Amino acid sequence: MAKGKNPWADHYTRKAREEGFAARSVYKLREAQEKYRLLRPGDRVLDLGCAPGAWSQYALRIVGPRGLVVGVDLSPVKLSAPNFVFLQRDVFELRPEELRALAPEGFQVILSDMAPKTTGDRSGDHFRSLALARRALELARELLLPGGYFMIKVFEGERFPLFRKEVEEYAQQKVRIFRPKSTRSRSREIFLIGQRKN
Ligand code: SAM
Repeated sequence: MAKGKNPWADHYTRKAREEGFAARSVYKLREAQEKYRLLRPGDRVLDLGCAPGAWSQYALRIVGPRGLVVGVDLSPVKLSAPNFVFLQRDVFELRPEELRALAPEGFQVILSDMAPKTTGDRSGDHFRSLALARRALELARELLLPGGYFMIKVFEGERFPLFRKEVEEYAQQKVRIFRPKSTRSRSREIFLIGQRKN
């Protein structure tokens, strides 16, 4: 089918294509940015689960040439920019020192849009998503600067309240539970947004 002619593409998918972003997920980060001002010019940003690259593209626009975006994913990304570093890796095998070597002073922002391949088994998907979210929190403990922002995706489910508590203990002030407008209605994803304690 010719590009731009997919009758099933929804509003956000079409908009992302028109605006040159790799995926509709960009609007989730954009909405969070408009609400919470997570990213600033010059920031060093770690983008976990970055493929196909829309969040990294957006983050690069905000941080500008003085900033840095480090993206990690199992799948490749096509994005290239002088201040973008991509690691095609599994986050469970990636050591914090490898990331620290790229940003010795730490990151101002850590994003995780990581998601397991969904199977339809809600409980199983929830647990797999939780493992990814916990890994993002572990990396944030190692690499996020005091006062730095995090935004971590998780699929809701029975263990969510426990995870939320862990995040609340790590964060300063209130942890926001954010469900973007562009999240598909059938999805159980939510994002935890907060700031590391000073
Ligand atoms: N934020 C991305 C964007 O805007 O283009 C979309 C991310 S997509 C919803 C979720 C990503 O998490 C997938 O690309 C998947 O490969 C990645 N992922 C899942 N498990 C992972 C793991 N163990 N290590 C690294 N990436 C993982």
